[in-house]
Amino acid sequence: MPSPLTAVADHRARIAELVGPMPVVTAPVADCLGLVLAADLVAPVSLPPFDNSAMDGYAVRAADVAGAPVSLPVAQDIPAGRTDVPPLEPGTAHRIMTGAPLPPGADAVVQVEWTDGGTEVVRLERGVAEGANVRRAADDVAAGATVLRAGTPLGPAQLGLAAALGLAGLPVRRRPRVLVLSTGSELVAPGEPLRPGQIYESNGVMLAAAVREAGGEAELLRFVPDDVARFHDAVAARLPGFDLLLTSGGVSAGAYEVVKDALTGRGVEFTRVAMQPGGPQGAGRYLGVAVATLPGNPVSAQVSFEVFIRPALRAAMGFARVERPIARARLSEAITSPAGRTQFRRGAYDPASGRVVTPVGGPGSHLLSALALSDCLIEVPPEVTELAEGDEVLVRFLGDSTPSAMTL
Ligand code: AMP
Ligand code: MG
Repeated sequence: MPSPLTAVADHRARIAELVGPMPVVTAPVADCLGLVLAADLVAPVSLPPFDNSAMDGYAVRAADVAGAPVSLPVAQDIPAGRTDVPPLEPGTAHRIMTGAPLPPGADAVVQVEWTDGGTEVVRLERGVAEGANVRRAADDVAAGATVLRAGTPLGPAQLGLAAALGLAGLPVRRRPRVLVLSTGSELVAPGEPLRPGQIYESNGVMLAAAVREAGGEAELLRFVPDDVARFHDAVAARLPGFDLLLTSGGVSAGAYEVVKDALTGRGVEFTRVAMQPGGPQGAGRYLGVAVATLPGNPVSAQVSFEVFIRPALRAAMGFARVERPIARARLSEAITSPAGRTQFRRGAYDPASGRVVTPVGGPGSHLLSALALSDCLIEVPPEVTELAEGDEVLVRFLGDSTPSAMTL
């Protein structure tokens, strides 16, 4: 009796639990792009920190320009950055630049376009209301206010805000560190000559890129042949300090399954997950480090990464939403799917022609060029074995922005 298949959701939960949340560190703001804020951010200063001019022009008392046109003596010149700002005496103007502190006594700014631009005496063509062209202190943020909540993904605007508040570092969950190792005696490094029976190693560069794209740090070990001693030699010395060992290959039902042979009975359990591609999977802890073992076929490895590893890494970084964008789409052609397994077919989504998805290549897990031409995975649930042209399916985008969003 073959052992029952593990449900996709169960294996996903297992990997997420193994990786667990990353520790919170204070990271330089400039390094926080793509990370998640780990604590509420309270403003240490107000924004703006002081009343300042929103325009290049002249700081005045609104009452002094009520009878415009009027001419006023220019008593001071206040460029942005001037810190000693004398008060404005009644009946005078200060020439002032955008962002410069409003002098005490002034209550409005007349923009330069409404003046003759004078430096000794200025002619002001129009009057302004009190408060005109003035940015008040704390208009944007009051000191002590919570400006961003824990869990906020940090993009350019959030990093800009942190810098504007004078913060050099932010509390974030650090990037997961992933050690990537490919296995297989048939593998040859790109750039080297290929002999009959050999193939170029592709999972390593692909999975390391996938880790980085997910926000993690990846170190790619040189691949090892199907030799348990070589596997241990490669891993043991490097493993400490990593959050996850991610292997590919050597986990199926054949002979020479190096990963299975090396890690069985050492804290890693091997199973078959009810999915296609990507059935053979393993998970556990080896030498104290979380391990996920992916199958070797390149499409299986990459789909497994999308389904199991990426969500776990995102959760570990503190993202509340770990899923890629999804959409419903109609199939451009009929497809079949094995009973009892979730099938992930590679697809190209076309929002223009009414949300249609076209399967790219067949179900074969060696069809790497088809994956490279796809922008989504078509998810077929385990109970569905046949779908007709025009049937609706769920698609999971392989990038963070959906093509439909781009065309809106
Ligand atoms: P395995 O899971 O080791 O039995 O490998 C399944 C298939 O994937 C075989 O055809 C391997 O040659 C291929 N394969 C395994 N690892 C890699 C890799 N790192 N790069 C390219 N192909 C691989
Ligand atoms: Mg192999």
